[in-house]
Amino acid sequence: MGVDIPEGAIFYGKPRRRQPVEFTKELRAETVATARALHQLIQEGITPPAEYEQKKCSACSLLEICMPQPHRSVAAYLKEVFREATS
Ligand code: SF4
Repeated sequence: MGVDIPEGAIFYGKPRRRQPVEFTKELRAETVATARALHQLIQEGITPPAEYEQKKCSACSLLEICMPQPHRSVAAYLKEVFREATS
Protein backbone atom coordinates (compact mmCIF):
# COMPACT_ATOMS: atom_id res chain seq x y z
CA MET A 1 0.00 0.00 0.00
CA GLY A 2 3.08 2.23 -0.29
CA VAL A 3 3.18 5.16 -2.66
CA ASP A 4 6.22 5.70 -4.85
CA ILE A 5 7.41 9.31 -4.61
CA PRO A 6 10.38 9.62 -6.98
CA GLU A 7 11.13 13.33 -6.50
CA GLY A 8 10.33 16.53 -4.69
CA ALA A 9 11.45 20.14 -4.97
CA ILE A 10 12.99 22.93 -2.95
CA PHE A 11 11.68 26.42 -3.58
CA TYR A 12 14.12 29.25 -2.98
CA GLY A 13 12.08 32.32 -2.06
CA LYS A 14 14.51 35.13 -2.75
CA PRO A 15 15.53 34.17 -6.30
CA ARG A 16 12.08 32.55 -6.74
CA ARG A 17 13.65 29.41 -8.14
CA ARG A 18 12.38 25.84 -7.90
CA GLN A 19 15.01 23.12 -7.67
CA PRO A 20 13.83 19.55 -8.37
CA VAL A 21 15.30 16.89 -6.07
CA GLU A 22 15.39 13.23 -7.04
CA PHE A 23 14.74 10.96 -4.05
CA THR A 24 17.54 8.47 -4.64
CA LYS A 25 18.32 5.55 -2.36
CA GLU A 26 21.44 7.43 -1.18
CA LEU A 27 19.50 10.62 -0.43
CA ARG A 28 16.90 8.66 1.53
CA ALA A 29 19.66 6.99 3.59
CA GLU A 30 21.36 10.36 4.23
CA THR A 31 18.02 11.86 5.25
CA VAL A 32 17.37 9.06 7.77
CA ALA A 33 20.91 9.43 9.20
CA THR A 34 20.49 13.22 9.47
CA ALA A 35 17.12 12.84 11.20
CA ARG A 36 18.66 10.43 13.71
CA ALA A 37 21.54 12.84 14.38
CA LEU A 38 19.04 15.68 14.85
CA HIS A 39 17.01 13.64 17.34
CA GLN A 40 20.20 12.95 19.27
CA LEU A 41 21.10 16.67 19.39
CA ILE A 42 17.61 17.46 20.67
CA GLN A 43 17.83 14.76 23.35
CA GLU A 44 21.22 16.10 24.46
CA GLY A 45 20.03 19.72 24.38
CA ILE A 46 22.84 20.78 22.04
CA THR A 47 22.49 23.58 19.49
CA PRO A 48 25.39 23.36 17.03
CA PRO A 49 26.75 26.66 15.70
CA ALA A 50 25.61 27.70 12.23
CA GLU A 51 28.23 27.37 9.51
CA TYR A 52 28.34 30.15 6.93
CA GLU A 53 28.41 29.04 3.31
CA GLN A 54 28.33 31.97 0.91
CA LYS A 55 26.37 30.17 -1.79
CA LYS A 56 23.65 28.87 0.52
CA CYS A 57 23.47 31.60 3.14
CA SER A 58 23.37 34.57 0.78
CA ALA A 59 20.06 33.29 -0.62
CA CYS A 60 18.61 32.10 2.71
CA SER A 61 15.56 33.85 4.16
CA LEU A 62 16.84 33.08 7.69
CA LEU A 63 20.16 34.89 7.28
CA GLU A 64 19.31 37.85 9.52
CA ILE A 65 17.98 35.58 12.27
CA CYS A 66 20.61 32.85 11.93
CA MET A 67 23.67 35.15 11.75
CA PRO A 68 26.04 32.36 10.70
CA GLN A 69 29.06 34.58 10.09
CA PRO A 70 31.68 34.56 12.81
CA HIS A 71 31.03 37.31 15.27
CA ARG A 72 33.32 40.29 15.15
CA SER A 73 34.92 41.68 18.22
CA VAL A 74 33.35 44.79 19.75
CA ALA A 75 36.49 46.73 18.83
CA ALA A 76 36.19 45.69 15.17
CA TYR A 77 32.48 46.56 15.17
CA LEU A 78 33.07 50.01 16.67
CA LYS A 79 35.92 50.65 14.24
CA GLU A 80 33.64 49.85 11.30
CA VAL A 81 30.77 51.98 12.65
CA PHE A 82 33.15 54.89 13.26
CA ARG A 83 34.61 54.56 9.74
CA GLU A 84 31.10 54.57 8.20
CA ALA A 85 30.06 57.59 10.29
CA THR A 86 33.09 59.64 9.29
CA SER A 87 33.23 58.76 5.60
S1 SF4 B 1 21.70 31.48 6.96
FE1 SF4 B 1 21.69 29.89 8.55
S2 SF4 B 1 19.90 28.64 8.08
FE2 SF4 B 1 20.37 29.84 6.26
S3 SF4 B 1 21.67 28.51 5.00
FE3 SF4 B 1 23.02 29.81 6.25
S4 SF4 B 1 23.45 28.59 8.07
FE4 SF4 B 1 21.66 27.66 7.08
